[in-house]
Amino acid sequence: MSQRVLPPSAAIAWHNLSASDALSKIESAEAGLADSEAARRLEAVGPNVIQRAKGDGALKLLFRQINDPLIYVLLASAALAMAMGEAIDGAVVLAVVVLNTAIGFVQEFRAGKAIEALVDMVPQTATVVRGGQRSAIPAANVVPGDVVVIEAGDKVPADARLLSVKNLRVDESALTGESVPSDKHVAVVPEDAGIGDRKNLTFGGTLVTSGTATAVVISTGAATELGRISSMLHEATEIETPLTRSMAKVGRVLTIAIVAVALVIVGVALLRGYPPVDAMLAGISLAVAAIPEGLPAIITISLAIGVQRMARRRAVIRKLPAVETLGSTGVICSDKTGTLTRNEMTVRALWTPPAGAAGDGETLEVTGVGYAPVGELRRGGAPAGEAPEAVRALLRAGMLCNDARMKREGDAWGIEGDPTEGALVVAAQKLGVDAGATRREYPRVDAVPFSSELQLMATLHEAPGGDRVIFMKGAPEAVLGRVAIGEAERAHVMAQVERMAAQGMRLLAVASRPADRGAASLDEAHLAEGFALLGLEGMIDPPRPEAIDAIKACHAAGITVKMITGDHLATARAIGEQLGIVAEGGRAINGTELARLSEDELRAAVASTNVFARVAPEHKLRLVKALQAQGKVVAMTGDGVNDAPALKQADIGVAMGITGTAVSKESADVVLTDDNFASIQAAVEEGRRVYDNLVKALAFVLPTNLGEALILLVAVMTFPVLGGAPLMPITAVQILWVNLVATVALSLPLAFEAMEKDVMSRPPRDPSEPILSRFVLVRTAIVAVLMAAGAIGLFLYEYFTEVRGGVVSEVAYREAQTAAVTTVVLFQIFYVINCRSLRDSLLKIGLFSNPWIYVGIGALLALQLCFVYAPFMHTLFGSAPLPLDAWVRSTLVAMTILPVMSVERWWRLRRARRTAERERRTPTSDVRGVAGAMANRGA
Ligand code: ATP
Repeated sequence: MSQRVLPPSAAIAWHNLSASDALSKIESAEAGLADSEAARRLEAVGPNVIQRAKGDGALKLLFRQINDPLIYVLLASAALAMAMGEAIDGAVVLAVVVLNTAIGFVQEFRAGKAIEALVDMVPQTATVVRGGQRSAIPAANVVPGDVVVIEAGDKVPADARLLSVKNLRVDESALTGESVPSDKHVAVVPEDAGIGDRKNLTFGGTLVTSGTATAVVISTGAATELGRISSMLHEATEIETPLTRSMAKVGRVLTIAIVAVALVIVGVALLRGYPPVDAMLAGISLAVAAIPEGLPAIITISLAIGVQRMARRRAVIRKLPAVETLGSTGVICSDKTGTLTRNEMTVRALWTPPAGAAGDGETLEVTGVGYAPVGELRRGGAPAGEAPEAVRALLRAGMLCNDARMKREGDAWGIEGDPTEGALVVAAQKLGVDAGATRREYPRVDAVPFSSELQLMATLHEAPGGDRVIFMKGAPEAVLGRVAIGEAERAHVMAQVERMAAQGMRLLAVASRPADRGAASLDEAHLAEGFALLGLEGMIDPPRPEAIDAIKACHAAGITVKMITGDHLATARAIGEQLGIVAEGGRAINGTELARLSEDELRAAVASTNVFARVAPEHKLRLVKALQAQGKVVAMTGDGVNDAPALKQADIGVAMGITGTAVSKESADVVLTDDNFASIQAAVEEGRRVYDNLVKALAFVLPTNLGEALILLVAVMTFPVLGGAPLMPITAVQILWVNLVATVALSLPLAFEAMEKDVMSRPPRDPSEPILSRFVLVRTAIVAVLMAAGAIGLFLYEYFTEVRGGVVSEVAYREAQTAAVTTVVLFQIFYVINCRSLRDSLLKIGLFSNPWIYVGIGALLALQLCFVYAPFMHTLFGSAPLPLDAWVRSTLVAMTILPVMSVERWWRLRRARRTAERERRTPTSDVRGVAGAMANRGA
């Protein structure tokens, strides 16, 4: 083909062309492009991606840093200080605000980028036909002229003209805002039709809600309809969460309180005879002291670190609030196949109905491991030799009514397609029914694909000799409903089904019926009745060993695991027992039964049942709602197109990265890149860690703010006013030094703190519990008082000994202030070590388990030395050099925090133990393994 680029797609009214005209216009064919031509076009038009205006723009982010009442107070303080002639103080406050804004901006920007990068971790693929062969390729490599195959659950990869459709309905709300899915067809549409009426086109980025289709791509990437409006789209990379929102609320209340106290301080200072300028400065200092300037950055960073950690453990967060919510998850509702089990189906048993009306039929065992095409048929443990004709007919139908293929993977055999179907192909192959030959013998004419609603699939074939035949396979109940047999025989077959399912086997019933000789298409109407049962195929799908462990871990953590499956009740219960979800003979319930329950009955049922079988997607939604009505935080998995409503309703919607449909991923909060239940448990664990680390950061940061405020309050109210100048242990700019340099240097490393040992042995956090818990408040009060007392004491000691020793008052004053600041900083250093674990002592968690703490401490000590000894710091901060003995005194005073914290911990744990014991004695508590668990929050 020539090297020229194709005509600009936008100039052509594709909807007004017939399918074949569209194909020739785009220089393609039904068999698709050749690989080489596709590569050439990719080179010419570029990848099929839309550059979206991701997240918030830089300006908006910057504005968000500044648009904070606390920052306003600081800016006002700076302006006031300047107006009063305190230029250096004003400038330092300003510089600190700028620095803080810059740090916050950079961190949030990076956090935003990290979160955006997650989008790329969930691969987008498209099915294309190239050179007559179907294959799955990255959606980014789709080019104009590609013939694409789309089906329910897919995201349409690019704008395309439909070539063939079957019940195709597409949700085009991303483009048109119309939430009702649009029916599609292939007929030509008038030229003047609007976007929503171009029923023979599908648009990139829209979601297929049902049906299947083939289509030829007409434009990709930025040239698509969605690409053209992409500047209006905002990928939702919210970096706001319930926590940051409630912190912002706390911040606003705090600001009002702080401003009020600052005004009171100004009044008191004036009454005590402070010069007006000094009275104002005291007020400003208080405001600066009490505001936790570094906190927003710390929260954002902790969340971002959590997101990255979860991604490493195969749980990609799509919506940031999920990071927090995960930590309070109380119930996980999980799909069975592939998530709790391996989704490696192997047919183990075949059953064929009795030849006459009487008899039991025959159950045969299939041997052979996994996907290897060799095996044997056994009867009562002994080799059965050649498969009888009835068995061959069963295997043949199971293999033909099927979209899976066996393929060689190096030395081994694998399957392509649905593992359930793959197992049927393998079983046929093992027992000598050759796939290739049989497919040639019975070419397929049409098919009704499997859907969880129908629970079956059917295909129309041309049989040898020209007759047409329909094969059907699916859940036994669904298939038997369409088979012509009497009640007694039906009951007999169902008893056989129960027997096999009770061994944990997934069962497929297979049936067939002749069709009209000329029949060219197949739809649901042809499947109503008249089928003859060929038999049952029973397959096993072993539980994932890691899922068994993860379920144990969840139980220890007070999290209930519920299994939701489309499988038969007996199969589900057997697998549930193997997984440890349900006790032997425990309760399991069928979807049909669920559907009959009233809301109240349903609530009672979900509380006592952990296995739900034959569940349809709409049942999932009711289940989530019933669990939520009991105040539970519910995580729910889903992979199908119809799971979207349940995923949205759940507090945490979990989609499958490998097998999940695009529709389910779009609706989910979390996507598992390995489809594994164990990854949900890992994410919950990380969620709890993030929350713990936030609590630690708060428990570390807040006491310093309160402590400094106390220092100022005490000074203004009680210290002598010497010669018209008030004595202040610490100035506004020195406070900023502590709040922004020392606090941030020490609290950031807390975000890297390892998991608490009991992280998965305590009950889930009550989502309504405030983050400023009793524990944080008590801690804040104790530490603040100690810190303030230490700093004030040393300030007075240094000042009066120096003055008495004959040192000029001004120098003594600066030295004493420097000693006070150094004491506060050293207090923080000893205290941060205590904040590393909420319940365990330092020795228990390991002195060096988080080296970042020491990096933070080292950096801070270097900075503090600068503060004390560097001349330019003296100018900026009014500090002065300290003699060695002053350092020793500060260190000793700061160390008093250690015994105090030991007593606090002992008292807290004792109290928690007592609460736990009391709870154990009250039978109403439904939480397992919670001894000592409340310790963490000191509830
Ligand atoms: P889970 O929710 O645990 O993943 P599931 O997704 O395996 O369960 P479905 O896929 O809805 O459940 O399957 C329900 C039933 O439909 C199965 O028990 C089986 O009998 C039948 N079935 C599954 N796959 C097919 C298929 N490809 N063709 C025909 N019938 C099928």
